[in-house]
Amino acid sequence: MFSAEVNYSYTTLYPTITIRNHHERRLFRGHLWAFSNELLEIPKDIEPGTVVQLVREFDKKPFALAFYHPNSLISARIISRDPEAAIDPDFFRDAIKRSAARRDFLLKERNAVRLVHGESDGLPGLLVEKYNDIITFQITSAGFEARKPELVEILKELYSPKSIIEKNISHLRKLEGLEEREGLVFGEETDTEIHDGAGTRYQVSLLKGQKTGFYLDQMENRTSLCRYMPQGGTVLDLFSNEGGFALNLARAGAASVLAVDSSQDALDAVRKNAALNNIEEKVQTFKGDCFQFAGECREKYDIVVLDPPSLVRTKKEIKSAERGYLALHKHAMNLVKSEGIMATASCSHHISRDMFIDLIRRAAYEAHRTATILEERGAAADHPIMAMMPETEYLRYFVLRLG
Ligand code: SAH
Repeated sequence: MFSAEVNYSYTTLYPTITIRNHHERRLFRGHLWAFSNELLEIPKDIEPGTVVQLVREFDKKPFALAFYHPNSLISARIISRDPEAAIDPDFFRDAIKRSAARRDFLLKERNAVRLVHGESDGLPGLLVEKYNDIITFQITSAGFEARKPELVEILKELYSPKSIIEKNISHLRKLEGLEEREGLVFGEETDTEIHDGAGTRYQVSLLKGQKTGFYLDQMENRTSLCRYMPQGGTVLDLFSNEGGFALNLARAGAASVLAVDSSQDALDAVRKNAALNNIEEKVQTFKGDCFQFAGECREKYDIVVLDPPSLVRTKKEIKSAERGYLALHKHAMNLVKSEGIMATASCSHHISRDMFIDLIRRAAYEAHRTATILEERGAAADHPIMAMMPETEYLRYFVLRLG
């Protein structure tokens, strides 16, 4: 099953790490991370990514296995609640299979799905996506980084993909001391065709594509927004990336859609996909800065989509991002026709629901508009939130009507 030249040795004798009294409680309730201040001591001689056994301080009882990191704020990420489990390729193969099986219902609808969503699927620091017959993955924990060859073998075995692409570009990798890297790790194909279950087709170029190849988290929000599309209406898709919202709305009856993004690669993909969906004549693109564009545009649209990248990566950045974010919302609201629709998304974990609603309220006030919330949604069902771990929630999405 595994090639002969790869020789791993596995053990169930793991170094132990002691979790300070009381701090084990959160872990017992389902959280997966132990922070550096929660460890009795932080051994520096244990390599990043080593599997350790967690024991609680008062009776030294082992209760879990975790990936360890001596220099990260997150010192341990639980991978098994069985402190005696053998962490070998079978362990990871089974865990990935279970995670993927949770998406069987989605794979009936569309052929592009996130199969593993990190902590929410009990696999900390691992994202795996399947695009038709190509697999992409991203690793953000030293534990999975150390097991990359093993992971690639498992993905080959489970999915017999045409190719596997690592998309190891993320600021989170720096926190674990990992270099950023992107490229084919198996096979040669980088492009394939996917569909979103509602009939929109995309030719995706997974090496060029941002993040893990394509923004799968917005799949369901894109298709569900179509119900608001007035026949023959107009759409502005700000931060369009490859145009998922614009293409869906054009197919749903818009007379014209304008996709704006700063990335030429993304806009080239919009054009290509407009042709693929036979709606070329309805789709315009504009390359530019959406903050500036929203402030200067004088048109009004039936639907405006506002889906900026994460503007706040750490708590500290909240204050500095606030003004720009507020102005962006205010300007975007002014581009919506009276009684029109705005869909707005925030993909920063640090922007809480209350903060986002407050921002909408303030922007509407400044824009002299009345905003009502028609829908509150999040990421698609293949990006679940682990209820015991608020850190796994990041995408907030509101559909507003603007009076
Ligand atoms: N709505 C998209 C996802 C948006 S991701 C979808 O459904 O797939 C955010 C996008 O914002 C990226 O495509 C990125 O290229 C673009 N971007 C980032 N900063 C920008 C800026 N200042 N102006 C315009 N586009 C920007």
